[in-house]
Amino acid sequence: MEKHGFTFSKALGQNFLVNPSVCPRIAELGNAAKGFGVIEIGTGIGVLTNELAKRADKVVAVEIDDRLIPVLEETLAEYDNVKIINADILKVDIRKLIEDEFQGLQVAVCANLPYYITSPVIMALLEQRLPIKTITVMVQKEAGTRLCAPMGTREMGAVTVAINYFATAKVLFNVSRGSFMPAPNVDSCVVQFELRDKTPEGVTDEAFFFRVARGAFSQRRKTLCNSVSSSLGIEKSLVIQAAENAGLELSVRPEKLTMQQLISFSEQLKKLI
Ligand code: SAM
Repeated sequence: MEKHGFTFSKALGQNFLVNPSVCPRIAELGNAAKGFGVIEIGTGIGVLTNELAKRADKVVAVEIDDRLIPVLEETLAEYDNVKIINADILKVDIRKLIEDEFQGLQVAVCANLPYYITSPVIMALLEQRLPIKTITVMVQKEAGTRLCAPMGTREMGAVTVAINYFATAKVLFNVSRGSFMPAPNVDSCVVQFELRDKTPEGVTDEAFFFRVARGAFSQRRKTLCNSVSSSLGIEKSLVIQAAENAGLELSVRPEKLTMQQLISFSEQLKKLI
């Protein structure tokens, strides 16, 4: 980095991994293996890319910071199965990338994510129903707990509903702040989402279902009925009727619901409005 006069950009979430034991673990657990193509998001100077390239058939790595491209040309020079794309991951057509680059391969995503786009990246990867087997990413520890919270627990939120809908989620291991350069103010963890072959049954309108989920968790201390009524602007009596039709207690709080209960409530509400 010194040779290239590189300085870290805080705005781009540039905390590079310097603990040598972490990248091999992400690569091993993240399906970087024969028969797989791996998409990496944010290469930095290529420490994780290196471990992915050793194991997978092909790696396509997307890095927004053009100052890193000459560094990567050096650090990844020995690999002919790595392609670097200098772009913003949120603007990349990932379906097309998979079609163009990974014919005949299974696909995995691995990354030490820039923290400022954690949720948008994960949601974009899940919502598009892309042909991806697993998404294995480093995130801030608190975010990891929230993202992997099972339905019906206090830690959950609207994002948990969306993740549980599309995938099964688990925390793989924790990583201390000292493993990065520069060291961030918080610890991290590596989480993995395994995409479901089939999303839960019974949802007739996904957009409405996710609106209800967002509404339910928008005012955390309120009951489900109060929160949905005020955040979605739906008359309280209709929301109460929907909850009753779904067999829910009127005092129930959103974080107590199972996926099936939330689906049932949303379907009943849709019929009434
Ligand atoms: N993988 C490297 C490592 O583990 O050392 C770097 C990880 S660092 C936390 C995040 C990387 O993502 C940085 O290199 C940053 O420049 C890049 N990045 C930030 N925003 C991005 C975006 N929107 N699209 C693609 N890459 C991005």
